[in-house]
Amino acid sequence: MRDHPELSVVVPMYDEEEVLPIFFERMHPLLDGLGITYELLVVDDGSRDKTAELLLAAAEDWPQLRVVRLLRNSGHQAAQSAGFRRARGQYVVTIDADLQDPPEVIAEFLQAVNEQDVDVVYGVRSDRSSDSWAKRTSARLYYRLMCRLVGKDIPFDAADFRLVTRRVVDAVNALPDDGRVFRLVIPWLGFPSAEVRYVRAERAAGTTKYNFSKMLRLAFDSVTAFSAAPLRLATWLGLLGGAMSGLFVVGALVIKLTGRSIPGWTSTVLAVSVIGAIQLLCLGLLGEYVARLFQSSQRRPQFLVGYDSLGDHGHQEPLH
Ligand code: UDP
Ligand code: MG
Repeated sequence: MRDHPELSVVVPMYDEEEVLPIFFERMHPLLDGLGITYELLVVDDGSRDKTAELLLAAAEDWPQLRVVRLLRNSGHQAAQSAGFRRARGQYVVTIDADLQDPPEVIAEFLQAVNEQDVDVVYGVRSDRSSDSWAKRTSARLYYRLMCRLVGKDIPFDAADFRLVTRRVVDAVNALPDDGRVFRLVIPWLGFPSAEVRYVRAERAAGTTKYNFSKMLRLAFDSVTAFSAAPLRLATWLGLLGGAMSGLFVVGALVIKLTGRSIPGWTSTVLAVSVIGAIQLLCLGLLGEYVARLFQSSQRRPQFLVGYDSLGDHGHQEPLH
C-alpha cells in the first residue's frame, strides 16, 4: 500500500524552518482525515537553515512524510520537477510551504477531480489582497503577457497550487526541456481542467524565498520557453531604430543645406543613445535565447538528489 499512495503532496521548501512546524501541524491531521493513502513529499531545495534537520526529525514518527533533499538550491521550479519525478501517487498536488495556499482546499481538489472528468484542477486565487501592490501589479502583467505568448488561456492567478493526475505527471516528465515553468507548461499541455477558487492567505511565518532576481529569472524563463516573439520584437526595434536614425540624418542634412546653424551635438547624442539602447536591448534578447540553447545543449541535470527517505539516495533520474 505504501508503494502506490493515491495522493502525493509535493512541497518545495527552501529555508522554511520558521513555517515548517506550523505547516506540519495543519497538514498532518488534514491529510490523515482525507481517507486515502498519501505521501507528503517534501523537496528540500538545498536549505541552509534547520529545515533538513526538522524534516528528518518529523519523518521519524510520520511514515507518510517523505523527504527528498536536493544537493544545492536549484529553485522553486526545479524542486517541483524533482517532486514530479519522484512522486508515486495517482494524484499529485503541489503546494507552497508557507500556508499561503490553504491545505484544506486539497479536499476540494479531490472532490473536483472525482466529480468531473478532468486531469488538472487549478487553485485560482479569488482575492490577492494579502499580496503587496507591487506583487499584484507585476503578477497581473505577467499573466497577461503569458496568455499572449502561450497562446492559450492561462488561468489568471493560478500559481503552483493545483492537483494533476498521473497522466499529466507522466506527460510533464516526458518533456525534453529543462527549466520548465509549471504554471505555463501544464495549461499548455491542454488536459481537461477545472478550477477551484480560494483566498490566498498571508505567509504564515518567515519571509519570501523569491527575491527579485528569482522573480526576474522566472519571467525570462517563462517568455523564452514559450515564444520567439521577443526575437521578432528585436527585429522591429532594430527597424524602428534604423528609421529614427534615418530621420536624424535627413534632419541634420536639411539643417546643413539650408545653411542654418546645426543645433550642435544634441541630435548626435540623441541618435547615438537611441540606437545604442535599442542595440543593447536586442543583444540582451538574443543573449537570453543563446543562453537557453547553450544550457540545453549542455544537457546538465536541473537538480541532483542528495537524499530520499525512501532510500535510493544516489539514484539520479535519467536526464530525459
Ligand atoms: N522555494 C524553493 N526554492 C527557492 C525559492 C522558494 O523551493 O529557491 C519554495 C518556498 O520554500 C515555498 C515556495 O517555493 O514553499 C514559494 O516560495 P515563497 O512563498 O517564498 O514565494 P512567494 O509566495 O513569496 O512568491
Ligand atoms: Mg509564498
